[in-house]
Amino acid sequence: MSSPHLVSPTRRQFLTTSATALAATALTGGLSAAETKPAAPAAKPPRNAFAYRFAIGDLEAWSISDGNLALKEGLGLMWPEGDRPAMKADMVAHGERTDLLPLYVNILVVKVGNEVALFDGGFGPGKNPNSGWVGESLAAIGLAPEKVTHAFLSHAHADHIGGFVTGNRMIFPNAAFHCLKAELDFWRSPEPDFSKSKRAKGPLPGMIKDAREKFDVLQPNLQLVKPGDGLLGGAIQVVAGPGHTAGHALFRVRSGQESLMHFMDVAHHHTLMFTDPGWGIAFDHEPELAIDTRKKLFAELSTTHERAYGFHLPWPGLGRVAKAGPGYAWQGERWSWGI
Ligand SMILES: [Zn+2]
Repeated sequence: MSSPHLVSPTRRQFLTTSATALAATALTGGLSAAETKPAAPAAKPPRNAFAYRFAIGDLEAWSISDGNLALKEGLGLMWPEGDRPAMKADMVAHGERTDLLPLYVNILVVKVGNEVALFDGGFGPGKNPNSGWVGESLAAIGLAPEKVTHAFLSHAHADHIGGFVTGNRMIFPNAAFHCLKAELDFWRSPEPDFSKSKRAKGPLPGMIKDAREKFDVLQPNLQLVKPGDGLLGGAIQVVAGPGHTAGHALFRVRSGQESLMHFMDVAHHHTLMFTDPGWGIAFDHEPELAIDTRKKLFAELSTTHERAYGFHLPWPGLGRVAKAGPGYAWQGERWSWGI
């Protein structure tokens, strides 16, 4: 362990602020309204938690949040269509609301010596107040964008590549930008093939244009990787996870006897894809291949009990995959202060 302390600066600040507020309440509690000063304008509500520190062996790691969204299409996004009643029953059985799909956006940050690895960029700056928090989250853990030395991209959907580019500028100018060649080739092909995907077809031209423009901005820093490659002295291993996209990449972080499998968009929901790995989301480019990848990975993780991290699973995204009946279950880790 690099440090026994798992309390983040953000949390320390929060505790200090809370203690001050409590003391102020205690001091004014005995005074009548006439004796207190007029109320100051309402303070900005405190930000939700967005930085969680943990360790992978000797490495310091963070789960930082880019925010969260509620997908109002709900089960209308899930396939096969005929299984939606069973999916709804599964959500009810787990105490989940059935009118939407929550979409957490969890970003993994790992420090290896003086190098800082960032895994996907989130949506990036935008108008939605519930997303695009990565810059703020990094600042909260004391990392300027210039300090990031390695930016890993799992795939080029907007919630993953968006946070790497603003306008025609790289947000992490000193970071080598890593992705699989298959992902780059897909988006740069003359006609990216979405024929098997259940995605709405209307937004596709805009989505393709956006991904291509972002890759063009990132081109000077691009360093393609292959499945099986080891980076940062072998601490990061690249793993192919095709189906969600052609070059969908997963990443294993290893230190000593500990490891973490970052499985990105292999699962978008913490009960549905685990109860039945054959249930998939419309965003998959090749649904059958995505299911195959999910089944293989869950079989592996439920056997090895390796710690895992999900990009879209409930914050902070850490947990393990366990066998449960004919399928699996996500055993999310509770928030820990190192106890
Ligand atoms: Zn995603």
